[in-house]
Amino acid sequence: MSASKESAGPQPKEYQGKIQPGWREIPRGGMILQAGNAREFETGDWRVTRPVWIPENCIQCLFCWIYCPDAAVLLEDGKVIGFDYAHCKGCGICAHECPGKRGAKAIKMVAESEAEEASQA
Ligand code: SF4
Ligand code: SF4
Repeated sequence: MSASKESAGPQPKEYQGKIQPGWREIPRGGMILQAGNAREFETGDWRVTRPVWIPENCIQCLFCWIYCPDAAVLLEDGKVIGFDYAHCKGCGICAHECPGKRGAKAIKMVAESEAEEASQA
């Protein structure tokens, strides 16, 4: 029995302004084969806690920037200035690694619901 193009499975569709691959084009195991494409995917929307930077406790050691798996720590002139919340997944590694100043951490993890309430107040 020959399969027509229509019956060959879902065809690529446009989603969020881009043509998305059908399931037949997705690599086995959903592996990501292209390098450097993390910035195309906003991974911040499944975060349940977010890092909040406390500048007065920051010694600019850049441990947070080095350890962040999503390159979501923002730098300006080689110094930390905050986080890219569109890509931060809220893993908490930055807060865990942050030495802070004299034991007072410069990053604390806050529940996303709490952060949203604070921004609306
Ligand atoms: S919580 Fe995780 S993803 Fe977000 S800035 Fe810290 S290390 Fe990066
Ligand atoms: S790890 Fe902590 S102290 Fe070091 S740069 Fe990041 S926020 Fe500042």
